Amino acid sequence: MPIYEYLCQGCQRKVSLLILNPSTYGRPKCPSCGSAELERIMSRFRTLRSEEKRMEKLADPSSFTGLDENDPSSVAKWAKKMGKELGDEAGEGFDEMVDQTMEEEMNKSNDGESLE
Ligand SMILES: [Zn+2]
Repeated sequence: MPIYEYLCQGCQRKVSLLILNPSTYGRPKCPSCGSAELERIMSRFRTLRSEEKRMEKLADPSSFTGLDENDPSSVAKWAKKMGKELGDEAGEGFDEMVDQTMEEEMNKSNDGESLE
């Protein structure tokens, strides 16, 4: 799952970021205050049983139906669905963050179009 969770040291908010390519993403920034002081939240889901069940459901192959990893709009649709499942846990502005990430991804893939 390409959704990473951080605790922002700047505004103390919990933020969820969609990161498809960690190697090319660069330094994550808080969508709320722009701070780069983000502390990665690890294994949060393992501590909560109900969350665990929910994530199991999300990890079910059927929830990936129609997902084409090479198609940014398809990934965006899927990620928003994930965001809805996570509800408040995904944080404010999650959809906007997905849109922005996908826009960047689409710009990147446009650059590589001549390779195909
Ligand atoms: Zn912040």
